[in-house]
Amino acid sequence: MNAEIIAIGSELTSGAKLDTNSQWLSVELSEIGIVVKYHSTMADDRDAMLEVFRTAANRSDLVLVTGGLGPTRDDLTRELLAELTDTELVLDEASLTFIRDMFEKRGRVMPERNDIQAKFPAGSTPLHNPIGTAPGIWCEVAREGRSPSCFAAMPGVPSEMKRMFAEQVRPRLPGGQQVIRRLDIHSFGQGESAVEEMLGDLTDRGRNPEVGITASKATITLRIAAHAESVEACEAMLAETRQQIYDTLGDLIFGERSDTLEGAVLAHLAERGETVAVADAGTLGLICQLAAATPHSATSFAGGTVVGTGLKQQAGSAAQADLISEQAARRMATECRESFGSDYALAITPYSEPDGDDGLRSCYLAMAGPDICTAHEHQILNDMSIAGPRAAKTAFNMLRRHLLQK
Ligand code: AMP
Ligand code: MG
Repeated sequence: MNAEIIAIGSELTSGAKLDTNSQWLSVELSEIGIVVKYHSTMADDRDAMLEVFRTAANRSDLVLVTGGLGPTRDDLTRELLAELTDTELVLDEASLTFIRDMFEKRGRVMPERNDIQAKFPAGSTPLHNPIGTAPGIWCEVAREGRSPSCFAAMPGVPSEMKRMFAEQVRPRLPGGQQVIRRLDIHSFGQGESAVEEMLGDLTDRGRNPEVGITASKATITLRIAAHAESVEACEAMLAETRQQIYDTLGDLIFGERSDTLEGAVLAHLAERGETVAVADAGTLGLICQLAAATPHSATSFAGGTVVGTGLKQQAGSAAQADLISEQAARRMATECRESFGSDYALAITPYSEPDGDDGLRSCYLAMAGPDICTAHEHQILNDMSIAGPRAAKTAFNMLRRHLLQK
């Protein structure tokens, strides 16, 4: 089955808004094995819409449309679907009552114009919208000598669209009755390709459960999706694949679902009744912020100091070596641990100036604890949006690995 997604709205083609609906729908369809071949985005424009609708009906078996279902004159989806199917718009009393009640519940009288939202191309099926005034439309477009092309038109508002897709559209699609269960497993310490290599054929396409790999700021996440006839069957399949991943990656794994690396570290510390403090001259406070935002920060985050980058400039290049070195990192960690009276301290030195064409920089990370004081160089590319999170997480990971060994 070939699918196509059409996003309608002048706010999308003008650049004022990003079309996130198509992305979301494509992911949903891929999970039930439906391949999306085209995304089309167009303005609220009669000619453009009709041309794209006709092309889509011709080349795609399934067409998901979002937007253009509002009550105003520039909302044309409903009218053009009637034109496409060569039918008239007819009133659906049940939809009209629902929309009118919706207004009344909010203490308002339904504007006359809104009755257009209760009209549907003859022969189509209204798709109930429990949280908005725009019902969707399910209709079939006849094609000579072939099965019809199915159109599902949904509201543009993402929350309404998602609910309608899940409740009204997906169950109508082949494979849409299947149950899907997912699990995300997070790892840190090896790159995406290394993790993929370790997992071998677990990441083969078409495997069930499917295991996808995504990287976000050096955290590598394995996304497992199991498809089956029942929740129980899905859970059993997930458990088996989960175990295989744990057996392979071992303690590279720090958590699942919404777990974060820093959250895992602070949870370990909380269990042991221990604390950590941080001294940061590299990530502009990011490492403090991450530690402070974890659920266990109240008991296990002793505090942090942030040193501005100006310090490095004042010191001049001759003194830089003093600030950016293993010794400097160890000194920072040791002093931080003493001043906060914590069990552990992590330190990040300032970054060196970018070097060479690829702008490679480095800093030093250190960890001080009751029976340890260790530091190492950490190389970063000159992309500060990634460098900070990577350095901070690498520092947390030093402590995580240390705690695992104890
Ligand atoms: P509409 O159903 O066309 O009246 O759209 C209602 C609102 O939903 C718009 O004002 C947008 O803010 C939002 N919206 C419409 N289409 C999209 C889309 N493809 N992606 C994300 N947001 C959208
Ligand atoms: Mg619109």
